[in-house]
Amino acid sequence: MLFDQTPQNGNSDSNANADEYRIQTEPYYRTVHDEANLYEAAYKARMPMMLKGPTGSGKTRFVEYMAWKLQRPLISVACNEDMTASDLVGRYLLDKDGTRWQDGPLTTAARMGAICYLDEIVEARQDTTVVIHPLTDHRRVLPLEKKGELVEAHPDFQIVISYNPGYQNLMKDLKQSTKQRFGALDFDYPDPETETEILAHETGVDRDTAGKLVEIAQRARNLKGHGLDEGISTRLLVYAGQLIHKGVDPRDACSMTLVRPITDDPDMRDTLDSAVSAFF
Ligand code: ADP
Repeated sequence: MLFDQTPQNGNSDSNANADEYRIQTEPYYRTVHDEANLYEAAYKARMPMMLKGPTGSGKTRFVEYMAWKLQRPLISVACNEDMTASDLVGRYLLDKDGTRWQDGPLTTAARMGAICYLDEIVEARQDTTVVIHPLTDHRRVLPLEKKGELVEAHPDFQIVISYNPGYQNLMKDLKQSTKQRFGALDFDYPDPETETEILAHETGVDRDTAGKLVEIAQRARNLKGHGLDEGISTRLLVYAGQLIHKGVDPRDACSMTLVRPITDDPDMRDTLDSAVSAFF
């Protein structure tokens, strides 16, 4: 389990200081629809939220931006299949003085009134996922069974999860009993003009170059389901733009960031490489 926003002094105890989890400078987030207003309304109702969309489509950046805008601390957890409920809620640690309880990131967030972002929650096992249930309904509590404590969530606490609908299958999906505890916002790659603007801003390349990258991505995205599992994400376009901005030949940059990462199939690589050479 990753504790993404590890505070600078490494302290993750229950007395963790909320300031250490605050985002100090405004993250750049380009609003695509009405998502910021809708999220703000959901936060006012302390509604648990699910951000749905493919990888690299801006979900993490959005939650960082909203935490900054709402002036809430943000605690992010990258979920994975080895994660246990104790990784989220906490555990007893042994040290020279005996045993000591250490809160997990979810408990820290619930106590301090942070926004807790569980990234790719579907990766976690279902017995891990259910620990969030009592926090997502009117009870807003978190039972620490091993410690024999019932934590009442701080009034400002909110839980947010991300979910990539493309990856799910019957064996690995959120149960309806989990899904139906959340309001949801859809994320997708932005329209070409908006994505061009984002790339130019994020990487420093000119709009013409950014526009070409977006057009290459558009072509690759049309191949999703026809040999490609996922299209080229905005994140990969940002990588390409960063390399080009540093002076790397655009074809090499695109090959390295837009083609090689997403497919090993030689024919598909050829197809994508020729899309690149149509523009650069
Ligand atoms: P996700 O969490 O959906 O996997 P991220 O939020 O990490 O994706 O987005 C990947 C990158 O794409 C970000 O670091 C940012 O550079 C860029 N990005 C995507 N959408 C936006 C947006 N709407 N505004 C600003 N940057 C964006």
